[in-house]
Amino acid sequence: MLLTCDPNDKEGSSKLLEDLTTNANRVQNQILEEILIENSKTEYLRSFLNGNTDKVAFKKKVPMVEYEDIKHYIERIVNEAPAEILTSQTITELHTSSGTSGGQRKMMPVTAEDLEIKAFFSHLMSSVMKRSLDGLDEGKGMYLMFIKPEIVTPSGLIARPALTSYYKSRIFKRVCSGFTSPYETIMCLDTEQSMYCQLLCGLIQRDEVFHVGAYYASGFLQGIKFLENYWPELVSNIRTGNLSDWITDTSCRNAVMSILGRPNSELADLVEPMFKGKSWEGIVKRLWPRTKFVDSISTGSMAQYISILDFYSGGLPLVSKAYASSECYFGFNLNPLCKPSDISYTLLPYMAYFEFIPVDKNGEAEGLVGEAVDLVDVKPGKHYELVVTTFTGLYRYRVGDILMVTGFYNNAPQFRFLHRKNVILSIDMDKTNEEDLFNAVTKAKILVESLGCLVTDYTSFPNTTSIPGHYVLFWELKTMENEDLPDLEATIMEQCCNTVEDSLDYVYRRGRSKEKSIGPLEIRVVKYGTFDALMDLFVSQGSSVNQYKTPRCIKSDEALEILNARVVGNFFSKKVPTWELQT
Ligand code: AMP
Repeated sequence: MLLTCDPNDKEGSSKLLEDLTTNANRVQNQILEEILIENSKTEYLRSFLNGNTDKVAFKKKVPMVEYEDIKHYIERIVNEAPAEILTSQTITELHTSSGTSGGQRKMMPVTAEDLEIKAFFSHLMSSVMKRSLDGLDEGKGMYLMFIKPEIVTPSGLIARPALTSYYKSRIFKRVCSGFTSPYETIMCLDTEQSMYCQLLCGLIQRDEVFHVGAYYASGFLQGIKFLENYWPELVSNIRTGNLSDWITDTSCRNAVMSILGRPNSELADLVEPMFKGKSWEGIVKRLWPRTKFVDSISTGSMAQYISILDFYSGGLPLVSKAYASSECYFGFNLNPLCKPSDISYTLLPYMAYFEFIPVDKNGEAEGLVGEAVDLVDVKPGKHYELVVTTFTGLYRYRVGDILMVTGFYNNAPQFRFLHRKNVILSIDMDKTNEEDLFNAVTKAKILVESLGCLVTDYTSFPNTTSIPGHYVLFWELKTMENEDLPDLEATIMEQCCNTVEDSLDYVYRRGRSKEKSIGPLEIRVVKYGTFDALMDLFVSQGSSVNQYKTPRCIKSDEALEILNARVVGNFFSKKVPTWELQT
């Protein structure tokens, strides 16, 4: 069932949306049937179903899996000829997700048909957005877009992030003129040159800009931080009509020069005082005065950036359009101008066969994991873990996202994104869970232990009050002999910060070193007894003393105050961690 959608045909796309959501159950059953029939001969499905394509058998015999469970199949696709292992369709590329497994990026098979399904999603979404967002059709978007390096796997497949694949696609080339960034600036692999050129072009075309943004809120804030550092140079380039010499990427340079054109002191005089102003509150509205909204995802781990984005944007509506992943695109926000706290995504029944594991508030399965419910059977107010079965070879695959049902659009459920299972720290694309943090702290604390000190407890929080944000760890230290605080040697503590960073996964290390989207990790040493005070707080708020566990990430301001009030020293990582691209 391959559908097509013309984003400019408002009536046609509305009808498609109504049909797909009204007939959600039928569409879901049809999708599953097609997946099972088409892939019944794959090595994976044969091993469980032996050619059977029946839904009941599928639910009974095919297990719920996580990436680790299917990693060896993916590795064969990466290393050998990828025929009929997971999917019967020809795998055309692999999408690298921001999630990692054993420190390496997860890889998701992609097929030509899958890209068409995703294109359908984007077109339908774009038409839905046009209904609610005037400004999307008019003017241009000052939207920051970047690509990442690709690798070729031993089996000859290109592996790259989904957004890189999209920006390099024919579909994107067709819509690229709707943005202020010339195509060549987006294709520039040097993020700094790319960012500089995109912002410069955005400033020059400021009168045409009707919306601003970046895929995730963190990305747009990186743009603002970049402006803070580079505005004098940007203004000078506008004034003189000369592009800075360090922009050495030739096609990027040529594209920008054709927009920069002549010296423009009028524009330079106009924007310079905005940058020089005492406060940058509302700077986005001043720089791009016709902007109607900020187009950046601000749900999930991005919610931490809402207040800072509000500050810079002067309260412009913050629009989160889509909920998607490398595994599958899930759904979009039918009410894009709603408050960030009210955002729900409507799952599009056409994208995959969806199942939902009922979970409690903490994301723990309530019954047997296998007893997942269908899309039309979820209940408002309940929490679920999302499970997908796709045409690209994922069967009952646990995405790891915890969602809450907020209602239905026709018969398609709408969900609020709550959190990722187990992730406790995230600044940008990094997702650090309790175990990652534990392993990193375990390695780092050996350094202080060798000096006769003990880390008696630890916790963390993502500090996003500065850009880029950074991880803060609170360590309670004492000497081995007694409860005295040891003399804190800065070099050793800084080494501890480095060791933690070196032990975190590839996505963290890359964000920190290459993309600079994460700032240096900080350790705040707190007085002995601080964690008792922390426990007292949680117990006073209803935690049971018997069951109390130190939260490994602090969410409440009150708890943070307790920790910060007892800090006796703070140290930052002085070295950027090493990273390398791994297959
Ligand atoms: P990736 O595979 O690297 O694209 O990451 C996909 C993950 O990012 C999803 O499984 C979610 O955990 C998160 N994500 C994607 N879109 C959203 C959204 N709109 N709101 C909250 N989290 C999101």
